[in-house]
Amino acid sequence: MYKSYDYIIVGAGIAGVCTAYFLSKYSKSVLLIDKNDCLLSEASSAAGAFLSPLLGKENPFKTLVSDSLKFSIDFYKEILKEDFINCGVCRVPKDEKDKQKFEEYEAFMNFEYEKTHEGYFFNIGSRITPKDFAQKIKNEFETQLNYKVFSLKQDEKFMWIVNDELITSNLILTTGHNINLIKEDYLKIRPVWGQKIDVLTSSINCINYHKECSVSSSCKYKNKNLVSIGATHHRFNESSDLECKKLLKEIEEENNEKLLNLAQDIINLKDIEIIDVKVGARSCSVDYFPMVGELIDSKASIEKYPHLINGSFVTDDKLIKKKNLYIINGVGGRGFVLSPYLANSLVEFLMNKKAINESILTNRLFKRWVKKIKLNNR
Ligand SMILES: Cc1cc2nc3c(=O)[nH]c(=O)nc-3n(C[C@H](O)[C@H](O)[C@H](O)COP(=O)(O)OP(=O)(O)OC[C@H]3O[C@@H](n4cnc5c(N)ncnc54)[C@H](O)[C@@H]3O)c2cc1C
Repeated sequence: MYKSYDYIIVGAGIAGVCTAYFLSKYSKSVLLIDKNDCLLSEASSAAGAFLSPLLGKENPFKTLVSDSLKFSIDFYKEILKEDFINCGVCRVPKDEKDKQKFEEYEAFMNFEYEKTHEGYFFNIGSRITPKDFAQKIKNEFETQLNYKVFSLKQDEKFMWIVNDELITSNLILTTGHNINLIKEDYLKIRPVWGQKIDVLTSSINCINYHKECSVSSSCKYKNKNLVSIGATHHRFNESSDLECKKLLKEIEEENNEKLLNLAQDIINLKDIEIIDVKVGARSCSVDYFPMVGELIDSKASIEKYPHLINGSFVTDDKLIKKKNLYIINGVGGRGFVLSPYLANSLVEFLMNKKAINESILTNRLFKRWVKKIKLNNR
């Protein structure tokens, strides 16, 4: 006999944790699984977890980030209470060209700001500590940690069987840059690896800064001040995590120096000692928008509408979806900003049939991919 749940979520990064939290408001039959031994490991443990506004002219991605930022600030405040760190963020232009760009963006700022001698100070800028957040939220839902999912099957009633041990009516995959549980060619993730360091310093810093890197406000730690500095960006051709982590290890010292130099270019931090180095992979989609909701079944859709590969148009509602399977992925370098909002959107879709914003559905990726098959077939 399988152990049964209404909802199983695979992947306890920030996307999975937020999904489990919102689902547990509706259902007592929710299980969150992870292969590691704690919540928020992998990319979610490497993040500085800065929550900052996106600057720029209006566009759909900026709207998504701004809406998510407002939502996530309220969400984290509610969970973290006094551990939520709202210290504001100063966005510092990196050069004269950047300064001019920032000035052009003034007309499009979505959040209150003050122009200072250093840059633009946004009071809304905040951050969280992933460890504190995991600690506060961990008892809100059931978890199964140290449990790697290696097999997913569907029975004749379209229930999902996980590792031949668990069964669920609804399966949600929030596995970050590892998407090998889904066999769909249109779902592509480009991992962008990064390194973040935590340092002790004798200097006190009251606000977050972002220039070419982010420097966090300081908090007291062992009679000194703890500051997080991040992050670097690396794309590797190697496909295994082990190989990528090995390459990152080789350049760890170089990255430390780079991050310290970038930080010193923003604020003078004295008597620095690096006490922690973390790496992780941001999971980026091909168009940098997240992917949320149902998944198109490409094989079934093409079988039903073979002319799709000749480029013919089929409306989204006709495309065949994989039954009882959902995803949140592609949250890139803003996973802590986007995930609460995206998880809430998915849960509202599942529970109250509220439509998910079209720009983040996986339909777009399928349609783009199927068009390419057409080109390749010519
Ligand atoms: C260095 C760095 C700094 C960053 N800074 C920020 C920042 O300041 N602000 C911000 O908003 N974002 C930041 N990000 C981005 C953010 O960390 C990510 O977007 C976010 O953590 C991704 O969350 P996730 O849940 O999608 O993936 P992950 O955190 O990678 O979680 C996926 C989980 O799935 C599990 N899993 C995968 N496959 C299986 C399986 N088969 N069985 C069981 N479990 C499985 C993994 O163990 C993992 O725990 C940063 C990222 C990096 C790397």
